[in-house]
Amino acid sequence: MFQFDNSYARLPERFYASVYPEPVEGPVLLKFNEGLAQELGIEADVTDPQRLAAIFAGNVVPQGATPLAMAYAGHQFGSFVPQLGDGRAILIGEVVDRNGTRRDIQLKGAGPTPFSRRGDGRAALGPVLREYILSEAMHALGIRATRALAAVATGEQVYRETPQPGAVFVRVASSHVRIGTFQYFAARQDVDGLKTLADYVIERHYPELRAVEKPYLELLRAVAFAQADLVARWLGIGFIHGVMNTDNMTLSGETIDFGPCAFLDEYDQMKVFSSIDQGGRYAYRNQPGIAQWNIARLAECMLPLIDEDQDKAVLTANHVLSEFGQRFQAAWLSVFRNKTCLSSEEEGDGDLVQALLAAMQEGEADFTLTFRRLCDVAAGAGEEAFLSSFKERDKATTWLETWRQRLERERGSQEERSAAMRAVNPAIIPRNHKVEEALAAANYSDLSFFNRLLQAVERPYEDRPEFEAYTVPPKPEERVLQTFCGT
Ligand code: AMP
Ligand code: MG
Repeated sequence: MFQFDNSYARLPERFYASVYPEPVEGPVLLKFNEGLAQELGIEADVTDPQRLAAIFAGNVVPQGATPLAMAYAGHQFGSFVPQLGDGRAILIGEVVDRNGTRRDIQLKGAGPTPFSRRGDGRAALGPVLREYILSEAMHALGIRATRALAAVATGEQVYRETPQPGAVFVRVASSHVRIGTFQYFAARQDVDGLKTLADYVIERHYPELRAVEKPYLELLRAVAFAQADLVARWLGIGFIHGVMNTDNMTLSGETIDFGPCAFLDEYDQMKVFSSIDQGGRYAYRNQPGIAQWNIARLAECMLPLIDEDQDKAVLTANHVLSEFGQRFQAAWLSVFRNKTCLSSEEEGDGDLVQALLAAMQEGEADFTLTFRRLCDVAAGAGEEAFLSSFKERDKATTWLETWRQRLERERGSQEERSAAMRAVNPAIIPRNHKVEEALAAANYSDLSFFNRLLQAVERPYEDRPEFEAYTVPPKPEERVLQTFCGT
């Protein structure tokens, strides 16, 4: 079924532990992403869901697989843990997709590994479906993210606070190398391992750096820039990752690990949803600073590769860190210029955007809806609807006036501008209350809400009247105040 070519398994043995998935009692296929399967060149017999379920649950290990759990370390909420590793995820192999890109196929929740510590190696149905929806939504929104190939029920229960139905999530990633993977070798002062890993990442993700003069320094810069761009995109759709630990940040620049992540309803820069983020370390507004902090941890690991002279290495690495800030600022401004229809660049654009956000913060305006309604205003309609998003309207009214004056210096017809805005300001995001609704029903074996939500988030930039209910903020009693890792 898979044309495996497993490059990670060819790395030295200390990079991973070979381990087979532990079979489960009653695998049932809940969802299979046929579109993604085609992209991956997987020949799947969709008329045989039982076989697919057996493969994706780990009961049948497909030919050519070399199942392994990757070793990694990581800073969790700022504290360093020298050994984490895949405690409940097993990489069964890699395929080269139709575009020539190598992709990992990983079973999450497939049983214990040597890295499980006290965990059971399993996943509960709720978090599995959550990751399915969130990662596919991110992809549809045009944001780099790991993908969902399938979800399978195990027919077994997992015990968290309460017994819950178990499931396996089949994740596809450009790779699962994280900042924490570098930290694993750095913590062991294994410079050979670091070099092998860096070469692997260059080969796989940044092949254009193979021939440059200082490949490792350039690798650090490329990763810093990829992450700066990614976080700017997150902020542009109101996304809060929730656990930006260094083990949850990829070298490829894909969003990974959709644990307690959530989208803003009303705009609040300091918003935190995750129940375990007591100090607000990973609040909406803190994300760029944390990404930079994480890149600093990567830089520390890479110092011995960057220059033999330690002082020189520190100096050049520090320079890259300051470039991160500039890169993020530029990416952020570009994202929000697009959202507010500013295709030309003027000095005061950043202030104009900030003024809107300040009005939204004060007026507790719904982030997604405000920008979507602004698309109507650009077309010369819907001003009242736009203003009605704000509890406190004065600032928004003044802002509209300034914005209109600014738009006079933009090219294109009203219709063209509005269409361009609609292509970057989604109507539909996976709103927290809709996600919770889908997961709650799934726990009672009703997948209809999940399926419908997935249909909604798969085409986020279109106006589809039948999905109207997914475009509006929660009613007060529907509001989700907290999200949980649920691992
Ligand atoms: P996460 O919070 O999902 O990023 O996971 C952090 C670490 O805990 C990783 O090393 C995971 O493999 C491990 N982990 C999380 N849940 C489990 C589990 N149920 N069993 C074993 N290891 C786990
Ligand atoms: Mg993780």
